[in-house]
Amino acid sequence: MIRSDNGFFGEFGGRFVPEILLPALTELEDLFFGLRDDPAFWQEYLTLTQEFSGRPTPLTPLRRISKQLGGAQIWLKREDLNHSGAHKINNVLGQGLLVQRMGKKRVIAETGAGQHGLATAIMAARLGLDATIYMGAEDIERQYSNVFWMRQLGSKVVGVTTGAQTLKEALDEALRDWAASVENTHYVLGTACGPAPFPELVSYFQSVISDEIKVQSMKQMGSLPDEVVACVGGGSNAMGAFAAFLEDPEVTLVGIEAGGLSLKDGEHSIRLSQNTGETGIAQGYKTLFLQNNDGQLGDTHSIAAGLDYVGVSPILAHLSQQGRVVPDSATDTEVTEAFSLLMKTEGIIPALESAHALAGGFKRAQQMTPEQNLVINLSGRGDKDIFTVARAFPQAEWAGFLQREAERSSEIMQQKGVL
Ligand SMILES: *Cc1c(COP(=O)(O)O)cnc(C)c1O
Repeated sequence: MIRSDNGFFGEFGGRFVPEILLPALTELEDLFFGLRDDPAFWQEYLTLTQEFSGRPTPLTPLRRISKQLGGAQIWLKREDLNHSGAHKINNVLGQGLLVQRMGKKRVIAETGAGQHGLATAIMAARLGLDATIYMGAEDIERQYSNVFWMRQLGSKVVGVTTGAQTLKEALDEALRDWAASVENTHYVLGTACGPAPFPELVSYFQSVISDEIKVQSMKQMGSLPDEVVACVGGGSNAMGAFAAFLEDPEVTLVGIEAGGLSLKDGEHSIRLSQNTGETGIAQGYKTLFLQNNDGQLGDTHSIAAGLDYVGVSPILAHLSQQGRVVPDSATDTEVTEAFSLLMKTEGIIPALESAHALAGGFKRAQQMTPEQNLVINLSGRGDKDIFTVARAFPQAEWAGFLQREAERSSEIMQQKGVL
């Protein structure tokens, strides 16, 4: 169980927000602290995830890849099999239960690639809440399929046109909305970052992942795993995969960040493993941020939109400083190789984010023995990312496919008189 010291994890965390938001954060924290040790509340949460999202997700042995690599037995925790295709639904369903208890009727969220917005839209539809999702206008263009589904699900998607028109501006806009609407609105934060109590609260709901890994590994391996590996964007799937093992020092916990193209500024999103992140306060909390020379938030790059983030969970910053979590990274090239290996050898289509954990995990497994077990958290599935993946693996034959798809759509739009 993860417990902060008054919102802090070592030197990281805290709550650095405008005064107007403090009552809402305190209300949320009081409610959460009152419920988190209540077995009836946890059971209510588990039932919702079982009935709606298919939990528990399986632990799948990768027999062919393990044999081919010749090291540890590799297992995948299948968060890709959740409803909506990733672990993000765990967190939003949990927050949905808190919203119901607070008696609020409206939720807001910000989203970059659209995955968290989509999960929030799904939760809002299921629980009968109004949802407004803020998204940079540039991201709306890049991730239109998620926008399409959010609107079909009944959510309002607001395009933010200030600044670079991406996640950061969407976050500012969502906070502005919240400051004016805290009375009836809950802000659904999507990862284990942001002001207290969010890092702790999001990790609490995601810890269902490692609770299940623990039970499944005892049953399927006859022991705890030797290593658990997860990718790190904001850090929620990693905290979920690690939480239940924090008191088991024999289980090595490894977080894989986006190594991108190179270690040059702006070409990666490594905050933990290469001393590239510097302690700072932004977006309501204190953590290791990528910063440029004048202390402004730096530019980031990743082949996977969900790992393209300047901050990182204060809990992971603390745990890696303490040596409990081993941070590492995988480059775009390593990621595409791991992606193909999993597809072709095991018939599983991973999200590009999760393929970072695969790349890191495969490398580590090769240094281990066949008697050992390594679990990789497969945070999401990749078939929804078809166009991103087609662009990430450019091949001439797919250019035609992408173009024909666009032409067919515009033909239909013309027939229906939309264009
Ligand atoms: C959003 C996302 C991530 C990164 O977010 P975390 O909070 O670090 O887990 C990783 N994998 C998938 C599939 C995602 O959608």
